[in-house]
Amino acid sequence: MKTKRENSSQLRNIDYYAFMIKGLMSFILLLVVINPLQAAKYKTVIIDPGHGGKDQGARWGGVNEKDLNMKVAKKLEALLKAKHVPVVMTRRSDVYLTLGQRAAVANRYKNAIFVSIHFNAHRITSVQGVETFYASAAGKKIASKIQSRIAKYTKTRNRGIKNGMGYAVLNQTICPAVLVECGFISNSYERSRCNQGWYQALAAKGIYEGIFPSL
Ligand SMILES: [Zn+2]
Repeated sequence: MKTKRENSSQLRNIDYYAFMIKGLMSFILLLVVINPLQAAKYKTVIIDPGHGGKDQGARWGGVNEKDLNMKVAKKLEALLKAKHVPVVMTRRSDVYLTLGQRAAVANRYKNAIFVSIHFNAHRITSVQGVETFYASAAGKKIASKIQSRIAKYTKTRNRGIKNGMGYAVLNQTICPAVLVECGFISNSYERSRCNQGWYQALAAKGIYEGIFPSL
């Protein structure tokens, strides 16, 4: 036969378990609500469309590099936003920013990846292909993933990943940073491809899958 004391102790145990189960249920509910938003799952991607304003970048055959950079950047932004990845653009219009200002935007975010988008040019107009620069070990890993995918999708020459320690946007950026050269506008064949929406979309897709291979 149980005493009153034993009964009240059992009741306390039941209250304890009920409390724990309620807590667990609330936690699961919280996960279910938060997860679709994927709010904290991904790093913020800082997209930096190279050049802008008075700095047009490379200019060949009437094509301005700064405009192509923005087109790829906006396509990349759309891909990331569709997956609820937080995105910050260093510029959204044709304005001039110093390299330090671009790095400073990235340095405002703790958990971020910085991607600077460019198109290339060379005085030897036969030079073609895509290449990606990095300045840290973490940046190198992302650079190699981006490089393999952008070369695969654009089906142009894979010039590989390169050390870009000399680039201010890479060496002044605290988070992992890469600079992608999406093609040579000094080469007439490549320029005409780079200037088209489908090519810019493939370049954006390559960069996107390089940043988040699992998305
Ligand atoms: Zn450039």
